[in-house]
Amino acid sequence: MTYSRISLIFPEKEEKLFLENYFSESLIQVRVSFILVSFLYSIFGYLDFLMFPEYAVLFHIIRYLVVVPVLMLVFFMSFTTVFRRIWQWLLFVSLIIGGSGISVMIMLVPENYAYYAGMMLIFSAGYFFIKLRFLLATIAGWIILILYNIGVIFYAHPETLTLINTNFFFISANIIGMFASYNIEFYARRNFFLNHELDKEKLLVEYNNRNLEKTVEERTNELVLAKEAAETINANVTAILEGTQNNIWAFNRNYEILYINHVFQTEFERTFGVWLEPGVNLIRSLPQALQPIWKPRYDRVLNNEPFTIEDAIDSGKGTVYIQVSFNPIVKKGEVVGGSCFGSDITGRKLAEIELKRAKEHAEESDRLKSAFLANMSHEIRTPMNGILGFSELLKNPGLTGDQQMEYIGIIEKSGARMLNIINDIVDISRIEAGLMKLDLKESDINKQIEYIYSFFKPEVEAKGLEFVIKDFLPEKESLIYTDREKTYAILTNLVKNAIKYTKEGTIELGCLKKDDFLEFYVKDTGIGIPDDRQEAIFERFIQADIADKMARQGAGLGLSISKAYVEMSGGKIWVESKEGTGSVFFFTLPYRVGSIVKPVPEALPDQTSENDLISGISGLKILIAEDDATSELLLEIIVKMLGSIVLKARSGIEAVEIFHDQPDIDLILMDIRMPGMNGYEAARQIRQVNKQVVIIAQTAFGMAGDMEKALEAGCNDYITKPVNSFRLLSMIKRHFGK
Ligand code: ADP
Repeated sequence: MTYSRISLIFPEKEEKLFLENYFSESLIQVRVSFILVSFLYSIFGYLDFLMFPEYAVLFHIIRYLVVVPVLMLVFFMSFTTVFRRIWQWLLFVSLIIGGSGISVMIMLVPENYAYYAGMMLIFSAGYFFIKLRFLLATIAGWIILILYNIGVIFYAHPETLTLINTNFFFISANIIGMFASYNIEFYARRNFFLNHELDKEKLLVEYNNRNLEKTVEERTNELVLAKEAAETINANVTAILEGTQNNIWAFNRNYEILYINHVFQTEFERTFGVWLEPGVNLIRSLPQALQPIWKPRYDRVLNNEPFTIEDAIDSGKGTVYIQVSFNPIVKKGEVVGGSCFGSDITGRKLAEIELKRAKEHAEESDRLKSAFLANMSHEIRTPMNGILGFSELLKNPGLTGDQQMEYIGIIEKSGARMLNIINDIVDISRIEAGLMKLDLKESDINKQIEYIYSFFKPEVEAKGLEFVIKDFLPEKESLIYTDREKTYAILTNLVKNAIKYTKEGTIELGCLKKDDFLEFYVKDTGIGIPDDRQEAIFERFIQADIADKMARQGAGLGLSISKAYVEMSGGKIWVESKEGTGSVFFFTLPYRVGSIVKPVPEALPDQTSENDLISGISGLKILIAEDDATSELLLEIIVKMLGSIVLKARSGIEAVEIFHDQPDIDLILMDIRMPGMNGYEAARQIRQVNKQVVIIAQTAFGMAGDMEKALEAGCNDYITKPVNSFRLLSMIKRHFGK
């Protein structure tokens, strides 16, 4: 807000406000001043009368009929509503009239100096007392002065000096009045202006205050809402963090824990015996040995690098595999800490390891399979070569009886060798299928050793080697409870190998009692086994020197069968060997004593001859179900010894049909693998209609579980090919003999 420096007038709106304010502040003083001035003006009338009786009438007219009535009129008008609008003009007119009155008096009685003083009073009242504003007071002052001079000059003709003198005082009074009045109004306006500004400021402050309160209230509400929202989020997040089975923790730049969930607290305590909580130093809580592993990880994440690791931890309860994701916590572009999310991946890891192992195993099996096939091919071709070669030679009609017997002997040996291999395969398959059972019987160990010794002695000596039994058991300790067949098989394998892998020197055999076990050993002075192969040779199809595998016969099964038998019996098998010097194979068997089962004869009495077997059985009606003509012929020749009636079927279906037509058949020799319907199915169908007929299954599979399957299909017995006439006949005798 600005105002004119000369007129002191504010801009329109403010000027109006000022004038209103000025009016209300001045009203009382206006009234008082008018009463006082009217009173004084009247009082001085008495002095007129005393000093200038000749002018008293005129002066009294001026005083009591003009000036005082005008002043009183203005006084009374001050109580009306119009006064507010015209009061300055009324004061202006009043002043001029008052001034003019005194001027007339001076004009008429210039020698009376008291009127000059009166004039001064008029000026001072006009400028200071009656609240006339500066501009109007000035104009009125100067008008009065002009009127005075006109009157005095034209009427009184004063001396110039006197005129100048009086004017000098009046002008001075006017100028002083003007300055003073200007100043008064200036300060009045300034006060008003400042008050006005102050009020505005006050209003603004009040407004701001009110606003501030509102804002504070709004902010408070917002904060309350934000707090509630934060609490909800916090509750949710906590539920997630605490509800998971994963380990979650966070730390600051000093490795101090900021957050840790209960799962991790419990797990850490279980593993390391330390209870972690916020504020605890993560590195120092770890065992000394783990600190150099974990600190660099925390440092990496504090370097703003997110990453994931997998680790194996020994928890005291076995190895636990964990996966931990590290993530930096960034605030305003700076890493202030890190968070970790750890999960137990033991299950997955173990599966992976198992898978890897299985894969390696599969690869190894594959490799072994190839080695096995190559080996088998060699192992089967060699005896086949003998059989076919010498069969061919047998055709020669010029052969002597001895030559014929020699060739037949070779053919038989080759056949036996081939059967050996096949039996090994069957055994291993039965072992793997879990079908191989322990058959504990009382047996004399010393006798078994002796038997092996006498059985192999000719072969050993033929090779130019020495064969000795070093240790026997004391006689009374020699009877134990064991699986005789398996012990034979183990010893046979070991001695056979010793012969096979020894060129010169000695083979020793023996058995010692050690605590609750018997320890057998077979020692040779042969080629020995490299250290790194000494464990592998007990695996299937593995030979010590793969490169040399063709060198000696063998399918790499003997030791693995032996190992399975030993372990099945509750013992151990191992080798001590030096390459080029020789080997000692050891195995132990639990020393079981006591007699539970009476020993049964191992085989049919030696003296039993084919003649004994066929005696007493004749006239059987026998059906041979067999698709292979050679096998069929062999069976036919054997059973014809019994003087039987022989019927033949080439398939399962045919067998069932023939039996259907001739239900008086006594015996069926049922081949298992036949085209169309196999032997199991044919046996099953025949069994449905007839329970008496004896069915003997005969198979070339020789595989694990064949016997069980045959019996389950309804067969009475089971014989493997190659069919040995002796065995077949004794089997028939068992079923039909008297
Ligand atoms: P194989 O039929 O090949 O003899 P085994 O399972 O009986 O099968 O033996 C496995 C391998 O162990 C043999 O191929 C051979 O390399 C090694 N071995 C077994 N016995 C002896 C031994 N007495 N001296 C040297 N090596 C042997």
